[in-house]
Amino acid sequence: MQCQTVRPGTECTFWSKAGCNFESATCQNVIEACEGCERIIDSTIGTVCEVYPAPMKKWLGGLCNFATHQKVEIKLDDLKVNPLKASKRAAAAKKK
Ligand code: SF4
Repeated sequence: MQCQTVRPGTECTFWSKAGCNFESATCQNVIEACEGCERIIDSTIGTVCEVYPAPMKKWLGGLCNFATHQKVEIKLDDLKVNPLKASKRAAAAKKK
């Protein structure tokens, strides 16, 4: 159904005949960590996230998985190497 309060006229899965059924019956504003994200939109309560109603919760476990302004950096040193495969690769490289 369409939201009638925070983003009037926008389809929202949390809106029902009884109103907003998200916790505290409203979306929450974006937090400082969201600054720069392309999913920030204006609403009747200020800036909110267009894909998740509680931005603070998206950052509790680290980087928000919907964020467009930050990416996860994978450190190659942290990757586990299979010692058997590494040994075979090294042996194959010596033969060349
Ligand atoms: S997608 Fe994540 S980072 Fe972007 S506005 Fe929403 S909660 Fe914030």
